Amino acid sequence: MERVIVIGSGPAGLTAAIYAARANLQPLVLAGGMYGGQLMLTTEVENFPGFPDGIMGPDLMIKFREQAERFGARIENVDVTSVDFTKRPLIVRTPDAEYQARTVIVATGASARWLGIPGEEKLRGRGVSTCATCDGAFFKQKHIVVVGGGDSAMEEALFLTRFGSKVTVVHRRDQLRASKIMAQRALAHEKISFIWNAVVEEVLGDETVRALRLYDVVEHKRWDLAADALFIAIGHDPNTAIFAGQLELDAAGYISSPDGTATNVEGVFVAGDVYDIRYKQAVTAAGLGCRAAMDAEKYLEAMEFSVEEAMV
Ligand code: NAP
Repeated sequence: MERVIVIGSGPAGLTAAIYAARANLQPLVLAGGMYGGQLMLTTEVENFPGFPDGIMGPDLMIKFREQAERFGARIENVDVTSVDFTKRPLIVRTPDAEYQARTVIVATGASARWLGIPGEEKLRGRGVSTCATCDGAFFKQKHIVVVGGGDSAMEEALFLTRFGSKVTVVHRRDQLRASKIMAQRALAHEKISFIWNAVVEEVLGDETVRALRLYDVVEHKRWDLAADALFIAIGHDPNTAIFAGQLELDAAGYISSPDGTATNVEGVFVAGDVYDIRYKQAVTAAGLGCRAAMDAEKYLEAMEFSVEEAMV
């Protein structure tokens, strides 16, 4: 019987693991086949406190992991396939095992969203990508298009200027959603140009990306833009498929929590982007992970106390 199982290993999950481990709860972290969360797919992180010169996302996550392990967290790089929170103990299943737990901290984060347009799936990995860090280097001296107007899109566009001869950002409105500093950097970059009020309707190409069919939502006209790659940076969806029917989710699929860590199931807590539709920062996820672990600890204390009482 585990006292705490943490599902997920981004900043939320690993901070929860650090706090639970330091509380002597020897948490088991089911980290996912690709551990580390979204920061593993990013480049330089400039806004995580404590790193005045910035730190690479994967390096930061390795430090989180080492810190959790130092205090006794057991971390397994496996995916959780299903859970049963309808009875006690709580059940968490992976492809090869079934675990029982008194508390579970859900920190499964969010995944990059796709456009869902013709040609996108066919050319995934052959010019269509959601990860500039992973795939940018394949497009040296090529024309790269980035879709989106948020911080992710600006970050991807700026990073891709290292490789592409030209980077074009296509955004569906005439204003960026990105923070001022990121927007200013992208707008000022000589290699980056912007196409405003336009959406990508189709990815054209047989073996690789050849062009994108664009639609101007103001002028109502269509045209093909020659391009070698399409990087999609239009936000994320919460990773909650395995919790459907087990935990209360909101309309967008995020886990509902009245206070930011408790869920509708006693003993199950939530932390990070899988709950946080608003801030979605590594540092806020870490903060939520800390809160979830402290709440799980309090819950266990109360639970163990009441068991002792019942035995008297
Ligand atoms: P986001 O802020 O939600 O931005 C998504 C962008 O994609 C928006 O501009 C949105 O357009 C556009 N979009 C959404 N669906 C679309 C569709 N179907 N077709 C075309 N465009 C679409 O997401 P994000 O950029 O991933 O950022 C998420 C959070 O992480 C934010 O809080 C952000 O600050 C943070 N973040 C920070 C950094 C950093 O500080 N370095 C880096 C990355 C992310 P509209 O604007 O019209 O809605």
